[in-house]
Amino acid sequence: MNVIILGSGGCVSTPRACCSCRVCTEARQKGFPYARTGCSLFIEDVNLLIDTPEDINASLNNSGIRKVEHILYSHCDPDHTMGMRVIEQLKMDWLANSLGKKPDNPIEVASLPAILEDIKKQGTKYGSAIEYYEAKGLIYTKKIRTLKYDNIFVELIPADEQEHVTIFIISSNSKTIIYAPCDVKPFPKSEKFQGADLLIIGNTIVGNVLKNGFVLNEDNPLRKELFTLDEIDIIRKQYDIKEVIITHLEEDWGKSYDDYKELEKELDGIHFAYDGLKIQL
Ligand SMILES: [Zn+2]
Ligand SMILES: [Zn+2]
Repeated sequence: MNVIILGSGGCVSTPRACCSCRVCTEARQKGFPYARTGCSLFIEDVNLLIDTPEDINASLNNSGIRKVEHILYSHCDPDHTMGMRVIEQLKMDWLANSLGKKPDNPIEVASLPAILEDIKKQGTKYGSAIEYYEAKGLIYTKKIRTLKYDNIFVELIPADEQEHVTIFIISSNSKTIIYAPCDVKPFPKSEKFQGADLLIIGNTIVGNVLKNGFVLNEDNPLRKELFTLDEIDIIRKQYDIKEVIITHLEEDWGKSYDDYKELEKELDGIHFAYDGLKIQL
């Protein structure tokens, strides 16, 4: 299978508008892969996109994506959903629409039942954006727990009891990728994670010294919400996962593309994502 990390950034993209820190300045000068858009993933084999951050249009262009047929959502947090207007950019033909025509082959928008309900609540004073797109024939929605397209199988494993956040297990030809972009601490227990080839995970603080020399003390509340690299290593060993790629990299971590490349050399089996990173398994 062929997977692309379209967006490797966190809640805030890099460069952050108006920020003159070292990392943002370099990203502004050099562009990708120093720049990072919001967190998203693409499965090329079946034109499947996971999550639509605000700058997803730029991410799709950067990776040269030609077609999106399915959109899955990991959860409803704004940094993963507020770019859902990309559906209009992908499917809306205003001229044909003026003649009452609906587009061919609407995009499938799917997730766990509770997540899809959350997503439908997002919109404007005119109502639910997703329901509007469905009425216009741009998409259709589907509550799912698994899906299979061609040789790609995707299983959604809830990360919390109420099932408002999901982890994806993507498999094909006995290769398995776990995609756990956000809000997955504590990491749920499942035998299904055992022996995976790759874990792509967000929610991780990288280093103890962050942007502008901020020192992350032992009692900092971020440690409860987010994983440390040591905790990621424990998950990796617990499930005997071959490789890990950390994504959802916050500008607040104060590290550039080159810094992450340097850091990788000190770590065993842990790598860092960048926009446009292609994974072939
Ligand atoms: Zn900055
Ligand atoms: Zn997030």
